[in-house]
This record gives sequence, C-alpha cells and structure tokens, in this order.
Amino acid sequence: MYANACQEAPANGLKSGISGERAINFSPGPAKIPDEVLHIVQEELLNYHGQGLGVMEMSHRSKEFEEIILGAEKSVRDLLNVPENYKVLFLQGGGAGQFAAVPLNLMHTGSADYLVTGSWSQSAVKEAEKYGKVNWVAPKSDKFVSIPDASTWKHSPDASYFYHCSNETVHGVEFPETPSVPNNTPVVADISSNFMSRKLDVSKYGLLFGGAQKNVGGAGVTAVIVRDDLLGKSRKECPSVIDYKVQSANSSLYNTPPCFNIYVMGLCLNWIQKHGGLDAMEDLSRQKSSLIYDVIDRSNGFYSAPVDRRYRSRMNIPFRVGTGADQERVEKEFLHEAQKLRMVSLKGHRSVGGMRASLYNAVTVEETRMLADFMEEFRDRSLDEQKA
Ligand SMILES: *Cc1c(COP(=O)(O)O)cnc(C)c1O
Repeated sequence: MYANACQEAPANGLKSGISGERAINFSPGPAKIPDEVLHIVQEELLNYHGQGLGVMEMSHRSKEFEEIILGAEKSVRDLLNVPENYKVLFLQGGGAGQFAAVPLNLMHTGSADYLVTGSWSQSAVKEAEKYGKVNWVAPKSDKFVSIPDASTWKHSPDASYFYHCSNETVHGVEFPETPSVPNNTPVVADISSNFMSRKLDVSKYGLLFGGAQKNVGGAGVTAVIVRDDLLGKSRKECPSVIDYKVQSANSSLYNTPPCFNIYVMGLCLNWIQKHGGLDAMEDLSRQKSSLIYDVIDRSNGFYSAPVDRRYRSRMNIPFRVGTGADQERVEKEFLHEAQKLRMVSLKGHRSVGGMRASLYNAVTVEETRMLADFMEEFRDRSLDEQKA
C-alpha cells in the first residue's frame, strides 16, 4: 500500500508544475497558495536542506528552525517596512484568537472603541465584551455594505484602543486607508484578509494582526505586529500563549509554535518579494478586482454588487447573479457551469447569499480573466435563453 502510494505520487501531475491540473481556486480561505511555493514544500517535505528530516519533524529550538522563523520575521519587516519599535510575533489561535488576545492584552482602561463594518468586526466585539466595555463607534447595522462616514464616529475619551477590520472578508467591505482617530488612541486592525496585499504605514497603528490562510499560507499561524509600548499591560488572567509580552520575550517560542505554517508563510513572503513586493501585489489586486467589478458594472443589472463603490474590497467580491424569482435557479446554474470550468469556491457566505470571488495574492490575472470571460459569456447566454 505504502510502496504503491509512493510509486503513484509522481503520476498525479503535481510535480510537473502544470497549473492546468489544479482547480482555479477563488476560495475565501483557506485559499490558494502559489504553485511555486507548494513545489518547494513538496521538494523539502522529507528532507529540509540536507538535514534528513522535514520541518514538521525538527526541533523548534534547532538552528534550522531559528533561521526559518527569523527569515519569516525579516520578510514581514522588509515588506511592510516595520519600524524598529514594533514587535513581530507568530501566534496560534487564528484571527479569532486575536479577538480575545487584543482586549486581554490592551484593554487596560476597561473599555475600547469598536467600529463594526461586517461580520468579522462584529465577532471581535462579541469576544471583547467578555473582558470589558465595548463602545460602538457607529450605530449597529446588519446590512454591511459601507463604512459609516468618519465625521459621525463617536469616540470615547477613555478607550484603550480603536478597533476595526481592514477588510471584511464575508461582506467585501475594505478600508481604503487607515482610519484617523483622536487623542493618539492606538489603532488596532484585523488585516487577516488583506494582509500583504498592499503597502501600509505601520507607524499609524498600535497593533495589526493577520492570519496566514488568506494571502500568505496555510491556517494555523497569525502574524501580530505590535508597538512595543503597548506590551506589558495585559490582564492577570491573560493566558501566556497569547500574552504579547511573554511571546515577545521568547521570540514567539514560549511554547512550540506552528513551525510548519511559519515555514510556509516564510516561503509565501519570499514569493511576494520575488514577484515585486507589495507594490506589485497592490497593482495586481487592482487589476484583478477591476476585471470582475467591470463585468458586474457593465452587465446592465444582470450582476449586482451590493457594496458602496468607495469601499469595494479588492480581495473579496460578493455579487448576485440574475434578479427576481429566477435568481436562485440562475445562481445554481452559474456555480454549476463555473465548476465545469474547474472554477471552485465561488459560492457566497451563507449569511450573504449569492456569489463571492476571492482574489488573494496567489490568484493570477489570467485566472481572474477566465472568470470575467465566463461571467460575460454566462450573461449573454442567459439573456439569449430568456429571449428564446
Ligand atoms: C478569516 C478571518 C478571520 C478568522 O480567522 P481564523 O483563523 O478562522 O480564526 C478573522 N478576521 C478576518 C478578517 C478573516 O478574514
């Protein structure tokens, strides 16, 4: 059985590097990882740099792993131009773990300001409420299609920090820039789904966190970039594994880190560096998202995108297909036809319905163009059928 599997492995086509063997993956996350990266992982899986063992099998205190984690940190610092007075941590527990870690570490005044623009920031509020008082910066809404105008935000003077989600993965709402906040209140951002997709000025933030599985690797590691004066304010009951000061003092090795995921993230970051850095990622994300939004906007209402144009996400594009009583059937048909072309994971989140195309770093312009072409063709065909 084992010998057989080994013999069969090269025949599955993966090693050949032919992308055609792979699906065209528009998944919202975990999402596509560049073929180039997966080939390196495959190559090194059993024998990392001549060690005779793989990254999953080596000590996290080994020299080899030290190079891996320091390399990943250096890439984060280089790509985002992270200032000296910020720590870069690699933690477990996902983006959702940070919903608790942020208040447990930073809510020293007992309250914080939260701007809710979609389901992820709403989840963060739910978690933060366990540890202190959450001030809603803008009134509650359940239709997340925009960002309330900054002039209407109600900040509170004693807030420990201002929290927002830079890109709402489910609703497709993205902040075009860093929100400005009074009184030097530290700005905290969940950048899980637009991490490493554009440049940002880290010095405008107190803390940024992003899970790897959208733009930079596999699930299991979350990068946290935190200004060092915010360390050491954690609550007594804050677990050590998510205490920024403890993890920082131990270079993210307080306990066994997600070694393999840090390794894969490092490879994805190298891939970004090799392909033009964040300028290129930003440029590509504009090109890709424009291809899809253009088809939607030119479709005469056959496709519709609910989000306010000013805040349309470059990463996640929710849209509906068709209108009226027929919509459900048409959308089923759309997914079915897309699947036949090997385009997968286009179904929208259950809370929103319709479709969602996620265009993270690893998704190519060519793949996106195939989706755009398919959408145009599908529309023309549907309208012809209606006429017939
Ligand atoms: C995916 C995602 C999360 C949750 O990440 P987990 O790793 O599942 O905890 C949080 N915030 C945003 C914006 C996300 O896209």
